[in-house]
Amino acid sequence: MSRQIKCECGFVARGETDDEVVTRIEGHIRSDHPDLAETLSRDEIASWVEVVE
Ligand SMILES: [Zn+2]
Repeated sequence: MSRQIKCECGFVARGETDDEVVTRIEGHIRSDHPDLAETLSRDEIASWVEVVE
């Protein structure tokens, strides 16, 4: 099983662990949505993780 987070813009971050997807989407948000990055905590981002079969 893997994990994914879908960004509102359509970008999908995938990884094998929660940590991996959170780190990946954080990088995406920082480069594509910098104003959003300032308002989000890592815990909030972690709550978006979906488990993919
Ligand atoms: Zn995005």
